[in-house]
Amino acid sequence: MRPIQMVDLKTEYQRLKTDIDTAVINVIDSAAFINGKPVQEFSKALSSYLDVKHVIPCANGTDALQIAMMALGLKPGDEVITPSFTYIATTEVVALLNLKPVFVEVDKQTFNIDVESLRKAITPKTKAIVPVHLYGQTCDMEAVMQVAKEYNLAVIEDNAQSIGGDYYFSDGSVKKAGTIGTIGTTSFYPAKNLGAYGDGGAIFTNDDALAQRIMMTANHGQSKRYYHDVVGCNSRLDTIQAAILNIRLQHLDANINARIKVADFYDAAFKGHAIIQSPFRAKNNRHVFHQYTLILNSDKIGLRDGLSAYLSEKKIPNMIYYPVPGHRQKMFESFGTKGVDLPVTDWLTERVISLPIHPEMDNEQLEFITENVLGYFK
Ligand SMILES: *Cc1c(COP(=O)(O)O)cnc(C)c1O
Repeated sequence: MRPIQMVDLKTEYQRLKTDIDTAVINVIDSAAFINGKPVQEFSKALSSYLDVKHVIPCANGTDALQIAMMALGLKPGDEVITPSFTYIATTEVVALLNLKPVFVEVDKQTFNIDVESLRKAITPKTKAIVPVHLYGQTCDMEAVMQVAKEYNLAVIEDNAQSIGGDYYFSDGSVKKAGTIGTIGTTSFYPAKNLGAYGDGGAIFTNDDALAQRIMMTANHGQSKRYYHDVVGCNSRLDTIQAAILNIRLQHLDANINARIKVADFYDAAFKGHAIIQSPFRAKNNRHVFHQYTLILNSDKIGLRDGLSAYLSEKKIPNMIYYPVPGHRQKMFESFGTKGVDLPVTDWLTERVISLPIHPEMDNEQLEFITENVLGYFK
C-alpha cells in the first residue's frame, strides 16, 4: 500500500509534471516575475470559472480577507460577525484592523454559521458578516443574505475551503461559493482544493467600484503610478504561482469529483454507526470536501483524542480542525470574549476529527482507513 497522506501533492505533480515544468520555466525565461502575463490570464480564467465580474489576485487568503475589510471602509470599533468555529485567519484580520470580532454559533450539522445566532448578535455597530464555507460546504447563503439585506450589512464570504462549490437558491438558480455576498475571498495555500506551489490568494466581487478599491488597496492605495490616495498594502500573486494555478484550475472539477468519491466511500463504510457521524450534506449546495470531518457523537471523555492517537500509530494521518475555537483564543481576550458562551461550538470542538481526503487516494488506502476507524470502536 502507498503511504497515506493528509494531502498528496507529490503524486499530482507527477501527473502534471510536463505542463507545470514548462509553465514555470516560461515565467523564468520571460523574467516577468511580478504581475507577468499568467497573473492576468489566471484572474480571467478564474473569473470565468466562477462567473464573477472581478477576480483580484493577492498574496494569500489572510491578506484577501484583510484587503476586503479595508476596501469596505470599515472603521475602528465597527463590529464584524464571524463564526467562532473557523481558522484563526478569518477573525485575526478583524482584530488587526481594530474592528471588533463578534463570535457566533455554527449549525451542529453543517459546521457553518447559525443564522439565528447571527441575528441575535446584530447591534447598531454591526457592519459586516463573514460567513465561512467550512470544510467544502457552502453556508446557508440565502438566509445570510436575507439578514444582511434587512440590516444593510456587507457580507464577506471566506471561501478558502470551498472554491468550486455550488450553491442552489430556492428559485432554482445556482451560484458559485464566494460569489454570492458583497465580496468573496480565497486562499491558494498548497493544501487547499485549488492550491499553488507556495502562497496565493484572491478576492472576488461583482461590484465595479468596490473592485477598483480592492485593487487600489492591494497596491499601496495607488490610483496612478506614485499617487497614493488611501492607505493600502502590498499584496500580489507571484507570477510563477499564477502559471501553476492556471494549470491546476483546469483540473479543479475533476479533483472535486475525486474528493466526492472518497467521501462517498467513507459515508458508505460508516453508515448507521452508533458513534461515528459522517459529514452532513445540505441539499442547498454541492459539498467540495476540502475536509472529510467526522463527529464522534459520544460524551465519553478522551474518545476522540484516543481515536486520533490510535490512527496515528497505524500511520493514518488525521487532524483536529480546530482544537481551540476563536472565542477561547487568548488573542481575543481584550475584546471581551471571556464571557461568550457558544455551547455548540464547544461541543463540536471536542468531537471532530478529519480523515485524509484528496484526489489521489485509492481503494486499498480507503479500506485500510475505514477498517481501522471502525476497529477502534470494537
Ligand atoms: C486557509 C484559510 C485562510 C487563510 O489562507 P492563507 O492563504 O493561509 O492566508 C483563511 N480562512 C480559512 C477558512 C482558511 O481555511
